[in-house]
Amino acid sequence: MIALVVFAAFYFVPPASADYLEVRRTVSIKEQPRRNSRNIESPAVGTKLQLLDDGLQSRGYYQTLAPTSNRSGWIYRSFVRRYPGVHPNLVRHGGGSTDGPDLTAESIIKVHFIDVDQGDAALLEFPCGAVLIDAGGQNNSTTKELASYLKNFFDRRTDLESTLDTIFVTHTHVDHNRALKAIVEDSDIAIKNYVHNGEYNGSGKEAARWMRDHANDDGRQIKDHIVSQSEILPLPRTSGLADETIDPIDCSDVDPQIRILAGPYEENPGWAHGEFEDGNNKSLVVRIDYGETSFLFTGDLEEAAIETLVEYYDGTDLLDVDVYQVGHHGSRNGTTDSMVKSMTPAIAVFSMGPAADRRSWTAWQYGHPRRSIVEMLDRWIERPRAERSWVRVASRVKDFFDYEMRDAVYGTGWDRTIVISADVSGNMRVETLGQPGPS
Ligand SMILES: [Zn+2]
Repeated sequence: MIALVVFAAFYFVPPASADYLEVRRTVSIKEQPRRNSRNIESPAVGTKLQLLDDGLQSRGYYQTLAPTSNRSGWIYRSFVRRYPGVHPNLVRHGGGSTDGPDLTAESIIKVHFIDVDQGDAALLEFPCGAVLIDAGGQNNSTTKELASYLKNFFDRRTDLESTLDTIFVTHTHVDHNRALKAIVEDSDIAIKNYVHNGEYNGSGKEAARWMRDHANDDGRQIKDHIVSQSEILPLPRTSGLADETIDPIDCSDVDPQIRILAGPYEENPGWAHGEFEDGNNKSLVVRIDYGETSFLFTGDLEEAAIETLVEYYDGTDLLDVDVYQVGHHGSRNGTTDSMVKSMTPAIAVFSMGPAADRRSWTAWQYGHPRRSIVEMLDRWIERPRAERSWVRVASRVKDFFDYEMRDAVYGTGWDRTIVISADVSGNMRVETLGQPGPS
């Protein structure tokens, strides 16, 4: 009976509004929009609260989410002030949640999809090393947040001696490499290898050229590996590309495999001219195998390049993975049906910003993640989400609606930083942190 009540209470939490509330005076959140209704909790003055149900009022009460108990309730309007947008401290959609078994074994991989708003940064944490795939983000403050996430990470994993074995940059766009210089030059992190696609133009050219000209200043010793498709084409189609810069990780009881499945084509494989010139289609595709668990990163590859990738690996199981970082932040041209069929993913993760941020170069402006892609993944993925949630999905650019996500499709713009732990037997656990910070 109790379980039923909890279920019902959760089920009827209406979608979040784009705005938030700040508590101005001592007040209680009520179960019903009535003065004599029971108190749920009394948030401190200054607390930021999620506004629900698009800010509709009932008898002068706003509907909100009680921050400690995560229950929905009502707060009288004159005790709060309403502000537009999502407050950065505010836990989105109920915040932290977990699913899957508690993987306490020593030998696990943790993949941290770090919240950098509109952009990509994924930290691969191995028992004996660490790798970063993309070092992007939306602006200077996300660069600082990424740097502090990495610092907190190395403060916890002192055994790794503040060393990133490899930084991959999938392609030369600023949402994928903005934080590169800050990590290489301004942090105490040592980097052994830098693997990228060799493009020095595009929105990320500043960081790419700085790496070309200054990566090894001040006594740094970073091996530079430019990958192109011509290195991959001569290989058997079942192998992918790996060497000591791409796969520097070999732990005592497990040897993870890191491979590059695609890089920029030097000769046009038959795409339209614009598609061939498009920096997104020069993205590196990275696959990680940790025992029976596998992850795939496709950068911002678009349809033409995705179809070529799917055809290239047809008949192999190299695209068949458990976790898919959804291509191109969930853009409508970043995933195809045939790609999803090849992958049969159990979990998908979007790296994108929150829909409520209505500035330029945001998920809002681009319409990420797009409805067609969210629905495509939702159809394929059967594993349930840690906590089913109402999430914001784009019907087109600058136009979003609320979507009830029940399956294991996550997004940094919905869940903030997402950490997937896995063991060599294929058991996985998903944690959404609800706020930026170490894990
Ligand atoms: Zn991108």
